[in-house]
Amino acid sequence: MDLKEKIRAIPDFPEKGISYKDITTLLKDKEALKATIDMFTDLSKDLKVDLVVGPEARGFIFGTALAYNLHAGFIPIRKPGKLPHAKLTQDYELEYGKDSLEIHEDSIQPGQRVLIIDDLLATGGTLLSTANLIEQLEGEVVGIMTLIELTELKGRDKLDKYKVESLVSYP
Ligand code: 5GP
Repeated sequence: MDLKEKIRAIPDFPEKGISYKDITTLLKDKEALKATIDMFTDLSKDLKVDLVVGPEARGFIFGTALAYNLHAGFIPIRKPGKLPHAKLTQDYELEYGKDSLEIHEDSIQPGQRVLIIDDLLATGGTLLSTANLIEQLEGEVVGIMTLIELTELKGRDKLDKYKVESLVSYP
């Protein structure tokens, strides 16, 4: 199935000059959603994954379905102030300003094999910060997967020490 056909590009959202990749059109299509999860599952079935980690919010959608298929656990990465228990925080630079991500510090045991998943790889800041959080907890990042990759932003270069897979790419 051509997943790209199922993704809707919205010009000038959230600001002028940005072509936003809207995945809600893919998610509501039962065949496209199944094909997406099946592809992620095929790509990761031999990685012996203990835990799937997904950043808020779209990483949760694919992450839990994939974790179910792999018979792995799921760990949410959240924006600041959302997690109720003791947590680690990672700050990262945005084009304008800063943001942070958090993980519960008891979510990963040393040596557990962790797969990261999100909807989209742009600059790579979100996924690199996620990998840093996992490594601070001594988890082993065995792969990073996204539905979409925006290749011109070269996020993959920032993640060059990891195995990175994307299903669909745009320049
Ligand atoms: P990065 O940190 O790689 O620059 O940005 C990736 C994050 O921004 C992802 O968590 C993703 O959900 C969000 N994001 C950035 N641009 C888009 C877009 O065009 N469409 C969607 N669905 N998410 C985006």
